[in-house]
Amino acid sequence: MVKKYTEILTYDQEHLWHPYTSMATPLPSYLVEHAEGVYLHLSSGEKIIDGMSSWWSVVHGYNHPALNDAMKVQIDKFSHVMFGGLTHQPAVDLAEKLINLTPAGLNKVFLADSGSVAVEVAIKMAIQYQHSKNKPAKNRLLTIKNGYHGDTFAAMSVCDPVNGMHQLFSGFITENYFADAPQIGFNQTWHESELDSIKQQFNDNHQHIAALILEPIVQGAGGMRFYHPEFLKACRELCDQYDVLLIADEIATGFGRSGKLFACEHAGISPDILCLGKALTGGYLTLAATLCTEHVATIISEGEAGVFMHGPTFMGNPLACAAANASLDLLVNNDWQSQVSNIEAQLKTELLPLATNRNVENVRVLGAIGVIEAKYSVNMANIQKKFVELGVWIRPFGKLIYIMPPFVISRDELYKLTTAMAKIIDCDDLFNK
Ligand SMILES: *Cc1c(COP(=O)(O)O)cnc(C)c1O
Repeated sequence: MVKKYTEILTYDQEHLWHPYTSMATPLPSYLVEHAEGVYLHLSSGEKIIDGMSSWWSVVHGYNHPALNDAMKVQIDKFSHVMFGGLTHQPAVDLAEKLINLTPAGLNKVFLADSGSVAVEVAIKMAIQYQHSKNKPAKNRLLTIKNGYHGDTFAAMSVCDPVNGMHQLFSGFITENYFADAPQIGFNQTWHESELDSIKQQFNDNHQHIAALILEPIVQGAGGMRFYHPEFLKACRELCDQYDVLLIADEIATGFGRSGKLFACEHAGISPDILCLGKALTGGYLTLAATLCTEHVATIISEGEAGVFMHGPTFMGNPLACAAANASLDLLVNNDWQSQVSNIEAQLKTELLPLATNRNVENVRVLGAIGVIEAKYSVNMANIQKKFVELGVWIRPFGKLIYIMPPFVISRDELYKLTTAMAKIIDCDDLFNK
């Protein structure tokens, strides 16, 4: 039965959960008919520019011929085979590309199904590692406040405890150690006192800490904050000093978004374990990866279990690997570095002057990420509607109005996004004042 678009939307509202929504008072969704380049074409007739890259992932735009072709070629061979005892070229090619692109020393690859699972895998690796080293008491994690690492339980246990409403799940969620979030911004003057809280945590609790997990340089969904590379450098040193593994969660920052291919490069460090996801397939399919060093893999494999204890049904899905391989080739062929630095320069020119607006607390730009932190939280339903009227797709949360556009966006299209942001922050009635 063919439904009219209004009927589809009504059914959606009555029966489908969307991310972090209420079923009692659902906000309206917008129905996408077709997507091409940086544009979402809505069934209601609007054509809007996606400023979110569908949450950091669609870096090359929608409906890209090279990505479409890579998947079509693979579909005609096979769409999936189990990864237990079988392998295939798309997975092997992907492992090789990831090992070559990522910071030095990471050369073992676990292909996971989503970002949250990649984080679960990283945490298991750290715990199995410490267990193998005969340090079973090192089975907790240290992290920094304001972080975001995913929605499954272990990942949630290292998200910001307030934002993540940990008290709702107390008794079920593991209690980990939280240091204060770094306060000194990416370009601000460094002070050693920034390390007080994290040093204290290492000093007091290292006997119980398997790994430090953090988002390098850019704290994404936990507040869109950019911190100083010296902080990350010091974390690497503290981990070494206290025999704690460093897990870098680059699920949002990976593949050029912060201006470096991986945000760890801002501090010139390599983690022991690295989580990747989001832009890995150019936003085509869910796929993530957890990489670790030879050393970590060897110690795990010498442990009591003798194996790494994880293996999902759809591990290493060939279609997703084919999309990822094509997306990584495009990054290089499109010269991601100039794409991102052009976006960064334009965001700085067009967004930084908005810092003086009466409704604005702070404006910050790093790589292809532009953030306006408002003084007040936004009225979500109204602001969404207004943005669509202005021809753009920007989805704020709380006080944060931010964009991380596809790398292929043109100057004029990006100008349309920043102009819409400038108009919105001038609308007093869209804020909860
Ligand atoms: C989005 C995100 C995750 C979770 O990834 P999912 O694919 O949504 O499970 C984990 N860590 C970071 C830093 C993220 O941005």
